[in-house]
Amino acid sequence: MNFHILTLFPDMVAEGLNTSIIGRAADKGLVTIDCINIRDYTLDKHKKVDDYPYGGGAGMVMQAQPVYDAWKSVVERIGYKPRTVYLTPQGGIFSQPQAKELALEKDLILLCGHYEGIDERVLEEIVTDYVSIGDYVLTGGELPAMVMVDAISRMVPGVLTNDESGSTESLEGNLLEYPQYSRPEEWNGKKVPAILLSGDHAKVDAWRREQSILRTAERRPDLLEKAQLTEKEQALLGKKLTEEKR
Ligand code: SAM
Repeated sequence: MNFHILTLFPDMVAEGLNTSIIGRAADKGLVTIDCINIRDYTLDKHKKVDDYPYGGGAGMVMQAQPVYDAWKSVVERIGYKPRTVYLTPQGGIFSQPQAKELALEKDLILLCGHYEGIDERVLEEIVTDYVSIGDYVLTGGELPAMVMVDAISRMVPGVLTNDESGSTESLEGNLLEYPQYSRPEEWNGKKVPAILLSGDHAKVDAWRREQSILRTAERRPDLLEKAQLTEKEQALLGKKLTEEKR
């Protein structure tokens, strides 16, 4: 999968993504991360890319021309118009299902704004998806773009070394993951739950599923409403919740 990131700060994005799992995936050619400097496309002789907002108000607005020409350079190079995401607090909130869905694309353009944002006219022309990474305002779209590249890349086949780990993690099936433990068996007076040392895989799986459900009920009850639970699991949850209320 190929990411094309349009930004005024290409070094920030490139450096942030060249380590650990995503860096290795790029080295192996499973993903490519191309950071395009919007400033390289300005026709302004002083290399300016922003100007005052019409109508007044605080801050500067990124101008349409350099953004459009940077986008067009990608489209011309790859020979088609791929989905183009504008990272913005005005978008729908990014989610795991969306990461999975976007991982099916061959190419994806991520457009990072800065300052007060980008001239609306170029957004109307090139953007297919408006995406936010949460209900807060950041100084630029670079961190959100990095968040998206990381989450989407993990869903690209071969990026995670253990095929399992992408499908058993938090948010799969609208449940959070069960608690995890590693050596030693006892740390700071706390023991690993005995069932995990039993070697009985069926019992371990059942315990993990139960823990997932209880943890989701405790931390993300909103998710649990969408999870598929068996009648037995619903009964267990009801019983635990009643016990807690006592
Ligand atoms: N004036 C804009 C508004 O009120 O909608 C906010 C501009 S923000 C200071 C600068 C840039 O940061 C935006 O153009 C966008 O690319 C990025 N950004 C800020 N918060 C974001 C968020 N929660 N999710 C995605 N991108 C965000």
